[in-house]
Amino acid sequence: MTNQESVRLELLEVGHCMHPEHVVLQNRRFAPLRFPALVALIHHPTRGPILFDTGYSPRFLHATRPFPERFYAWVTPITIDPARTALAQLEARGIRASDITHVIVSHFHADHVAGLCDFPRARLVYLERALRSFLPLGRIRGTAAGFLRALLPEDLESRALVPRPECESVRLPPECAPFHYGVDLFGDGSISLVELPGHVEGQLGAFLRAADGSLDFLVADACWTTESVRRRQLPHPITRALFSSYGLYGTTLGRIADLAERTPSIRIVPAHCDAVRRLRIPSAHVGPTVTPSSDARAIV
Ligand SMILES: [Zn+2]
Repeated sequence: MTNQESVRLELLEVGHCMHPEHVVLQNRRFAPLRFPALVALIHHPTRGPILFDTGYSPRFLHATRPFPERFYAWVTPITIDPARTALAQLEARGIRASDITHVIVSHFHADHVAGLCDFPRARLVYLERALRSFLPLGRIRGTAAGFLRALLPEDLESRALVPRPECESVRLPPECAPFHYGVDLFGDGSISLVELPGHVEGQLGAFLRAADGSLDFLVADACWTTESVRRRQLPHPITRALFSSYGLYGTTLGRIADLAERTPSIRIVPAHCDAVRRLRIPSAHVGPTVTPSSDARAIV
């Protein structure tokens, strides 16, 4: 791959919610902290534009109108401007929904899949167990787990491109250590998927390798801020109920911190880190603040 043909990453802010800071980083203030929902738009030289997650969407507001889903909407206030959905921001760049060939779904929490129905022709890349861990849940337990079935396309499984790391893994470049194996999505080394367990079962992360060798690591909710990586600090224990395994979450966070120390040039991109948003998204590309509607709330 030449530099000209390299993958290129853009981050889009697609809505945000607010959480008390002490929940995210221990020993911090009770003041609310902004949690952007960051969507990665990956420009691939031969596969076209690809999304990593889809962020919030007005569909979230519809899905959380009835009970018990409304409880989900009460946990944390969210803001989503209908003019700033992932699809709207793509169209502003001249990209149509049908141009999106693949959507990598890190996991099935509502703030990552609320825009999925906007991309009816895309292949959907996710780990089977990420979906299976939610599907058996009824509405009450699903809502408590941050899963809203109404947000999923009816033909989701027929469009799935499900990587099986146990049989398709390839060796990653040494600078990805301590992550040694991943799924090479297109066989060109540009996007390598790894499982980052702990937040939910089967959560995917993605290494993006540009032709000049620079690396981005999209980690979704494996950590909520880059500061938590730098400080190797877990979220407050009251968040335990949000994780499939708080212990595994800590192990994964430790591996990401090891990676960041060994390869300082790598750019770690959590899905909800406001510092990353401020660094990577020019203010001109961030939509106006919209007052949350009374039922516009969500969890991370
Ligand atoms: Zn999540």
